[in-house]
Amino acid sequence: MTDKPARIKVAIQKSGRLTEQSLDLLQRCGLKYTKGPDQLIAFGENMPVDVLLVRDDDIPGLVRDDVCDLGIAGLNIVEEKRLHFLQQEPIEPFRILRSLDYGHCRLAFAYPDGSPLRNVASLEGRRIATSYPSIVRDYLRRQNVTATVVEFSGAVEIAPSLGRADAICDLVSTGATLIANKLREGETILESHAVLLQTPVQVPPEKAEWIGKLLQRVEGVMQVRESKYIMMHAPKAALAQIAALLPGSEAPTVLPLDGRDDRVAVHVVCRENVFWETLESLKAAGATSVLVMPVEKMLA
Ligand code: ATP
Ligand code: ZN
Repeated sequence: MTDKPARIKVAIQKSGRLTEQSLDLLQRCGLKYTKGPDQLIAFGENMPVDVLLVRDDDIPGLVRDDVCDLGIAGLNIVEEKRLHFLQQEPIEPFRILRSLDYGHCRLAFAYPDGSPLRNVASLEGRRIATSYPSIVRDYLRRQNVTATVVEFSGAVEIAPSLGRADAICDLVSTGATLIANKLREGETILESHAVLLQTPVQVPPEKAEWIGKLLQRVEGVMQVRESKYIMMHAPKAALAQIAALLPGSEAPTVLPLDGRDDRVAVHVVCRENVFWETLESLKAAGATSVLVMPVEKMLA
């Protein structure tokens, strides 16, 4: 056997709610790729990084088994599989490197309209339909509630009307599906978003270097999405007040304005979104010619 080239494999969802944003994230990290003929793998052209396109449910397992070095999946799937794997073997199956800023949803209980069930405490001795049996069992245990968990792989919301369960625990984003199925939303047990996973296995140095680089770029992409570059003219006397109005900003650059002693130009990077209210407050503090610009790239 010749040495395997040190290419990093990243597993992402093949087709679903996380696919577009996961591919977009990798592209923003500088990755250019061509898809293979079977559409199951995308080969990195300019970095030693290949992308495996799979079902989201398979991603935590692929990372745990070191088939892939990295993976992106929803925290809901990641946590469910983590609890499941921990039962088989009491060692952390993967490392969660960081949260990503998309795929937001929540895992929540829901109770049929008109039923006496209102909260988790009232579920004692009842049946709960879910696709997240490990998370739900773990939660019930911590709440000291004994109930039967009925596993559904999809269409959980119809379980009560089919007479298969008394309540459900499912992913919600807007809540429209619950309303359409005459269900009332209850306790949230997990706030979810996409996360970046890494294999628990020690990676060789050549790979570790690229993983480090990729992680730093992901960090940069996340920061840039929220960050704004702000320029304005402001009274010198109001500088402290203006700095206090800018969310998550570092020390501003202050430049003289030709022929003005009392006013300066202020340039600053804000690491949080800038809203109209902030601009109005800046104006009230004496700022003029306020410009807010998107940041293209950032390397902290
Ligand atoms: P696959 O074919 O890959 O198994 P799937 O049907 O299980 O796909 P999707 O519906 O595409 O998965 O959802 C993928 C992930 O998107 C979810 O696991 C969750 O983390 C996130 N997500 C965000 N909003 C929602 C939502 N409203 N409903 C379900 N999942 C959501
Ligand atoms: Zn799935």
